[in-house]
Amino acid sequence: MRALRYYGANDIRLDDIPEPEPGPGMIKVAVEAAGICGSDIHEYKSGPISTPVQAPHPLTGEQTPIVLGHEFCGTVVAVGEGVERIAVGQQVAANAALWCGQCPPCLEGSTNVCQSIGFHGVSGGGGAFAAFDVIHERNAHVIPDSVLPSVGALLEPLATAIHAVKMAELHPGDHTVVFGAGPIGLMVLSVLSAMGLESIIAVEPGASRAAAATRCGATTVIDPFTEDVRTRIAEITGGGRVGASFDAAAAPDSLHVAIDITGVHGRVINIAAWERGVEFNPTSLLFREVSLHGSLAYTSKDFDDAVAHAATRAETLAGMITSTIALDDVITAGFDRLAYDKHDEIKVLVRP
Ligand SMILES: [Zn+2]
Ligand SMILES: [Zn+2]
Repeated sequence: MRALRYYGANDIRLDDIPEPEPGPGMIKVAVEAAGICGSDIHEYKSGPISTPVQAPHPLTGEQTPIVLGHEFCGTVVAVGEGVERIAVGQQVAANAALWCGQCPPCLEGSTNVCQSIGFHGVSGGGGAFAAFDVIHERNAHVIPDSVLPSVGALLEPLATAIHAVKMAELHPGDHTVVFGAGPIGLMVLSVLSAMGLESIIAVEPGASRAAAATRCGATTVIDPFTEDVRTRIAEITGGGRVGASFDAAAAPDSLHVAIDITGVHGRVINIAAWERGVEFNPTSLLFREVSLHGSLAYTSKDFDDAVAHAATRAETLAGMITSTIALDDVITAGFDRLAYDKHDEIKVLVRP
């Protein structure tokens, strides 16, 4: 079968590789839809960042070239020995996280910060930009038939957003601010909206993303290129507390503003992967005891919560899908376009 494999920066290839078959505890999935992630584009333009190049990844035993594709949904077509929970014919979305299950964070249930953390479709072990993929049974989440495969492919980034919102420990009546309305920022907005929060502010300069932010539940969208964000937020909140700011933009200004506008004991949640460092004065955290948190991926529980969220907000989520392309076009219409073209894309799906 054909599969998109990563070799290095600006070097991805559609290769012919053997169709994978499920070993014990594994399931084989016919991929219905697979999303291209912002991290895939970082890896393509500026990598290798997360792909194992020098040595095999400890959990997959593989190194580049590796098959890409970690946000996906498909139909189970075969199961390996000992698989009991998943059956042929079921529609599943894949939890892409790989964890060891034995290190101290794993034993505490924080599998998303496993000391050997890896991601299927990034760290080897298979990937979804191919007709078939094989994953561990524990990584498969059954999704209702009423959830379209295209929406099923959004569950992985949605689980990331759900984890980030849990980290914020919001209080009723809090204002919230989301910087950046790319896929993750939009999903955070959708999750905040489902919580019933009344004041959800998005900061986003792009017109199409700003419109998407409103569809996903933002109650106000501020354009940081034409408005003073600090002043606007002060007007909107009228002295009320910003309980959390979410940085899904990775722009130096967004981090500075996020720290300044977050209220007493509020949290700044960094979800973005930054390509370079940013200077800030930690004193800015002191006077309101604001804390800065990193939020990485998700646990299995977060993924289950994503399945439940998608069942009720499928239409909102589907609105983020701006293009669906064939595997044959994944390099030109997918990676090259997202990396190097001016575009209005939010989420591009591949149908292998
Ligand atoms: Zn991703
Ligand atoms: Zn572990």
